[in-house]
Amino acid sequence: LCGVVALDGPSGTGKTTAARRLATEFGAGYLDTGAMYRVATLAVLRAGIGPDDASAVVELVRRIEIGVGTDPKEPSASLDGVDVSEAIRTEEVNQAVSAVSAVPEVREMLVAEQRRIIRKALDEVGGIVVDGRDIGTVVVPDAPLKVFLTASADVRARRRSAQDAAAGRVSTPEETKASVERRDRLDSTRANSPLRAADDAVLLDTSDLALDEVTAKLTELAED
Ligand code: C5P
Repeated sequence: LCGVVALDGPSGTGKTTAARRLATEFGAGYLDTGAMYRVATLAVLRAGIGPDDASAVVELVRRIEIGVGTDPKEPSASLDGVDVSEAIRTEEVNQAVSAVSAVPEVREMLVAEQRRIIRKALDEVGGIVVDGRDIGTVVVPDAPLKVFLTASADVRARRRSAQDAAAGRVSTPEETKASVERRDRLDSTRANSPLRAADDAVLLDTSDLALDEVTAKLTELAED
């Protein structure tokens, strides 16, 4: 794999699993940009700042250190040097992350950091699969391969429930669907919505695909 693979789309499309497998297969790096917005959100919640208080959010995010590992076999996230890989996956963070990531200055800071991480991975291992919402449109608009994944709301809610269960959290399918739909709505209706396919992205509907099939399809595209 040579260069950047931009993998965008909402959660529950199989994006993260497929991105990690693809990166592992090709010996490339992996960057989970959602994890970075989650770390920022966790810091906001821990500081007792309202996620909608944009100026307080910006001031805080400027001061914290957001760390993400790029090993696809072992993704990690840290806040000021302390591992928060699990703490960023709670429902509280799910609920607040859209508001924090809607703040333009937060996006600017995180996009700059993402570009730095991508350049480093390209230098070191020659390729990186970047998982997010705005990778093909904003972060790396000249990526040689851009894929935008979609799936029906039902399928995405089911996949999220399975992930929750694997992580030891109990959620009903109704709760998960409501949470998935709420975050999509917040992510896609705001003015600077990051959730949009680039004009030159390959669209892939994963509703009827197993995760292995999603990975196989991406591998095929990356080999072309
Ligand atoms: O990918 P994940 O579901 O972990 O992302 C969490 C949230 O971070 C998204 O719902 C979205 O609000 C935000 N996000 C973003 N831009 C990205 C990646 C994630 O705004 N590139």
